[in-house]
Amino acid sequence: MEPKERSPRAPRSTVRPDPPQASIGRRRFLIGATVTVGAAGVVAGAQVARAGGPVEDPESLARRHADDPAMLIDLTRCVGCGRCVRACKVEGGLGWRADQPALGPDAELASTNRSIVRARTVETEVETPLGARRRLAVRYAKVQCMHCLEPACASACFMRALRKSDAGPVVYDADRCIVCRYCLVSCPFGIPTFDWDATFGRVEKCDLCAGRLARGDPPACAEACPQGAIAFGRRADLLVEAWRRIGEDARYVHHVYGEYEAGGTSVLYVSDVPFEAPGFRTSLPAEPLPGSTWAVTRMIPSTAAGVLTGLTLLYLRRRRYLERERAEREEAGP
Ligand code: SF4
Ligand code: SF4
Ligand code: SF4
Repeated sequence: MEPKERSPRAPRSTVRPDPPQASIGRRRFLIGATVTVGAAGVVAGAQVARAGGPVEDPESLARRHADDPAMLIDLTRCVGCGRCVRACKVEGGLGWRADQPALGPDAELASTNRSIVRARTVETEVETPLGARRRLAVRYAKVQCMHCLEPACASACFMRALRKSDAGPVVYDADRCIVCRYCLVSCPFGIPTFDWDATFGRVEKCDLCAGRLARGDPPACAEACPQGAIAFGRRADLLVEAWRRIGEDARYVHHVYGEYEAGGTSVLYVSDVPFEAPGFRTSLPAEPLPGSTWAVTRMIPSTAAGVLTGLTLLYLRRRRYLERERAEREEAGP
């Protein structure tokens, strides 16, 4: 069978996150909210300044991150059992919400879903006694933060609440976050989420089980998978393994998703169906995006305008909430 898809380049070769904040000082919040309203402008300026900076070559990035902890997810092996998602929820202390499905066709990353298993009905080619035939089949894709080698989310976060740790995972510090949510629109993979119903929300995303990794354990999802669909190891080794599978089995598309997307990521995928079929973004550049984060955002002005409007409305809503709370306390007396 001919390869169905070509890689843009020639082939080579588990700290539990902080619990949600129960409260936040009013002074701190108001300062944060004030900063927030102007944040997009500051970020815009910073990103415009960065946009002119040098962008590291993907090959050099890959060499520099060869030892990073990584995962290789094989769509041909996933049966959609959801054990990885359960393990993720247990590890993160996250609950299940009926309006936030984590498994199936409607699965979406959300405030209680740092990882999901999305189901898609796709067209596949199978060999029959009468030759190759097209058949409909269900493919499952485990989705979570890609742990980019050069994360656009961290570049966009001028509070350094999101950063690429020395150990490799892209981690989040809620204490630094002013909930400007610029990271939500900066991520090329659409990963970070926010609890829009919470008065004082926080950004949610997978941290590759950074605490488990520090103890020498694999990510909870990789450990829980009964199908061997999630391999864990050095990024360079997993790339070799991915290309080995592709080379030895003609079912696989000739592409390792994440090898070069957005400069390369620490979560890699192999698949027997083109990656757009199970819902992956396939038009991402091979260069890292941080240098062009603002340029990319400018390309979607409606999104940028939406963010600014959303931030202002959030600030006004929260200010009304705080004023009402103060009035009620004064009315109740000492
Ligand atoms: S996938 Fe998105 S949230 Fe995850 S590291 Fe990359 S830019 Fe950040
Ligand atoms: S983590 Fe996201 S929401 Fe929080 S300060 Fe950084 S960019 Fe803003
Ligand atoms: S545990 Fe493994 S087989 Fe089950 S849904 Fe997750 S990745 Fe797929």
